[in-house]
Amino acid sequence: MEKVKKIILVAPRGFCAGVDRAVRTVEEALEVFGAPVYVKHRIVHNTTVVRSLEEKGAIIVETLEEVPEGSVVVFSAHGSPPEHYIQAKKRGLRVIDATCPLVTKVHLEVHRYLKRGYEIVYIGHRGHIEGEGVRAEAHPYGKDIFLVDSVSSVEALPSILGKCVYLTQTTLSIPETEGIITALREKIPNIESPPIQDICYATTNRQVAVQKLAQGVDVVLVVGSADSSNSNRLVERARDEGAKAYLVENVEAVQELDLKNVETIGITAGASAPESMVRSITDHLKQGGAQEETLNVIQESMRFADPLELQYMREAKT
Ligand code: SF4
Repeated sequence: MEKVKKIILVAPRGFCAGVDRAVRTVEEALEVFGAPVYVKHRIVHNTTVVRSLEEKGAIIVETLEEVPEGSVVVFSAHGSPPEHYIQAKKRGLRVIDATCPLVTKVHLEVHRYLKRGYEIVYIGHRGHIEGEGVRAEAHPYGKDIFLVDSVSSVEALPSILGKCVYLTQTTLSIPETEGIITALREKIPNIESPPIQDICYATTNRQVAVQKLAQGVDVVLVVGSADSSNSNRLVERARDEGAKAYLVENVEAVQELDLKNVETIGITAGASAPESMVRSITDHLKQGGAQEETLNVIQESMRFADPLELQYMREAKT
């Protein structure tokens, strides 16, 4: 670390509009209703953010049975299966839905295509909560959505002769997805693409930015948690460019790296990583005399309105 001369912070990095909205929602729900406010699933995949909300009175649960009747519960940014809304209503819970509008868009696409008689193939990571919510939208139709996560899983699909469309998780790597889409088109020649790409603007922008960053540095540090899909994709994209790249969540993780022969470090952050995490790591690196620069790749100005339920509850309180 002693030799690090330059730190380059790339923009955009860190919080996306969906994560910003979800965190704001829990914070405001705590202000409006007081603690505790229940949160179904880790509101965003970042340990630091979740801990800070827990300190303010949020209680993270994985099932709605854990939420006492009549309580306020925030649904996470990743989206929820339709059964959870029904279950919450039956139990008299006051739901504030912080599902990112760009995830909701994919849920709505499921309905639109199933109503028109399509089979759906979903490109996503097995077991990821976002995909589970999207695929559950098919249950009321008595249908299943095929999940593929690799070219070999495409080969294992049955032959689909009728109308078919693919949808994707919002946080995938663009090149990896392109390979799967190519395999899908070979396997199912009539497969259609969604009208607008499902991989979201924040994922795309951060991947383009880290690619550019990786071309001019010795090492890329991606600030984020191990279970953050988009953070892991950023590491992959930096490595695709030939850079050494590491996912780090805190200063301790940086201290464990061998940076002895590194002069220039590039830093980005996943969409669920707060700027405070980035700052603690840059402050640590700058203690050795490194200079900080910024690399602006894309300007972002996206902001989502608060969940409607929060707006109504806020008005009802005033
Ligand atoms: Fe929404 Fe994209 Fe952020 Fe996910 S990464 S919360 S889809 S803006």
